[in-house]
Amino acid sequence: MKLLKKGISLFLVLMLAACTTTTPENSNAEDSKKKEAVETTDVIVVGAGGAGLTAAYYVQQGGKDVILLEKRAMTGGNTALAGFFAANSTQMQEEMGDHYTQQDHYDFLMETEGTDPEFAKLFVENVGATAEWAVEALQIQVTEVNGREIYAVDENGTKLPAQLISKLTELDKEIGVDIRTETPAIALIEENGKIVGVEAEGPEGKIEIYAEAVILASGGFAANQEMIAEYAPDWAGGTTSNTDATTGDGILMAQAIGAAVSNMDQFTLNPTFYDDQGRTMSVSGVRYEGGILVDLEGKRFANEMANYTEVSEAERAIGSHAFAIMDSQSLACNPNYATEAQTIEELAEKIGIDPQTLSETVTRYQTYVDQQEDEEFGRTDMRSRLDAAPYYAVPVFPGVHHTRGGLTINLRSQVLNTAGEPILGLYGAGEVTDNKLMGNDPVAVGVTFGKLTAQSVLEDLQ
Ligand SMILES: Cc1cc2nc3c(=O)[nH]c(=O)nc-3n(C[C@H](O)[C@H](O)[C@H](O)COP(=O)(O)OP(=O)(O)OC[C@H]3O[C@@H](n4cnc5c(N)ncnc54)[C@H](O)[C@@H]3O)c2cc1C
Repeated sequence: MKLLKKGISLFLVLMLAACTTTTPENSNAEDSKKKEAVETTDVIVVGAGGAGLTAAYYVQQGGKDVILLEKRAMTGGNTALAGFFAANSTQMQEEMGDHYTQQDHYDFLMETEGTDPEFAKLFVENVGATAEWAVEALQIQVTEVNGREIYAVDENGTKLPAQLISKLTELDKEIGVDIRTETPAIALIEENGKIVGVEAEGPEGKIEIYAEAVILASGGFAANQEMIAEYAPDWAGGTTSNTDATTGDGILMAQAIGAAVSNMDQFTLNPTFYDDQGRTMSVSGVRYEGGILVDLEGKRFANEMANYTEVSEAERAIGSHAFAIMDSQSLACNPNYATEAQTIEELAEKIGIDPQTLSETVTRYQTYVDQQEDEEFGRTDMRSRLDAAPYYAVPVFPGVHHTRGGLTINLRSQVLNTAGEPILGLYGAGEVTDNKLMGNDPVAVGVTFGKLTAQSVLEDLQ
């Protein structure tokens, strides 16, 4: 038996499991308060973000017992930080006046270089039903639809993905999913070329859990500086909006047993991070609602509405943070983050940039808005003239928002080895995988592939 961390024989495990599901292995070890335990279940899911909670739900509903391991003290991952859920052809889109078809969604995805047509087709054919299930089963009140983007903000300001997480966590518990927080998976257990379990580190100590299948749903690697240095050296030492648990654990564990990775050098960057007392957060709305970005001289440096990555690259090239400049109509972040002034010149003085230059930049931009043509950078969406006091400035800087590459999977979500063959017993869903959709719509991709992965697992376990 080839076990990543030294282990015991499966025969012994099965014998022990036949007697009891939890077997203290070193209860006599006086030098350690922590005990090592061996457990069995049907399916292990690693990571309780959108992909993992959904996969666990469908596997448990399909009649197989699930242990869901989560590294942090709470479920949610990056999914809980997100804003919108993408979908097509749903009743809610029709009802709210947006006729957005599968073909529209497919065409949108395929505009991004590197997107795989088969994965895109699988996603667009399944995401609508998944979104409708999420909204109905979890009783989420949709508040806005914009093309493929679906938003729901409740009375507490909680956005759709965070609502999905808290409600799905409760639903999973109700149907019997065994959710273990503060229990990171640390290694995969392999026997004769098949994955038969996971080694984890729980509050009580090490656990070996044996199962018929393992689904990795542990997210990307934006918060792993070593991996960023390896795959995106230009961005090493920078920051990310992701949780500190986003350290590529699933990728590393699977690579250790021979899994292949792909598109690891593909990232979604974000030009509008804000440093909230040491916590990096995204204030993306400052671009979408009509703000402009200026450098420390007070000059624009990019088409603010170009894709995240292009604007981030342009911002990195200026070598420092930038400022988003907004007026009262385009203010799109918490005003507590922003410097406020009654005139553009006063605003410039307050943030330490040359008032005349900033004033000229804004005046020039206003002529672009009036003529609806940005002669410098070709911006087309210019929804604010930046002339309604008070004015606001918020410092923003770029960083890694989302990792697009990951474990190579096939259309059945089986993780492939470096020879391109499925690794038996091992599946992947969400940002831990390279789903070949190049970072588009990752919340919806995670949830949809969470469901599809569960279906593949259930088929294979029949
Ligand atoms: C600030 C922000 C805003 C975003 N906005 C949007 C948006 O509006 N729309 C959109 O589509 N996408 C958005 N994204 C991207 C999107 O949220 C993620 O790509 C997606 O939700 C990932 O889902 P996931 O389930 O694969 O991973 P996650 O939701 O990150 O879940 C992974 C889980 O695995 C856990 N984990 C990690 N390692 C281990 C381990 N060893 N053992 C056990 N558990 C482990 C983590 O703690 C986490 O709970 C945003 C991302 C961020 C950071």
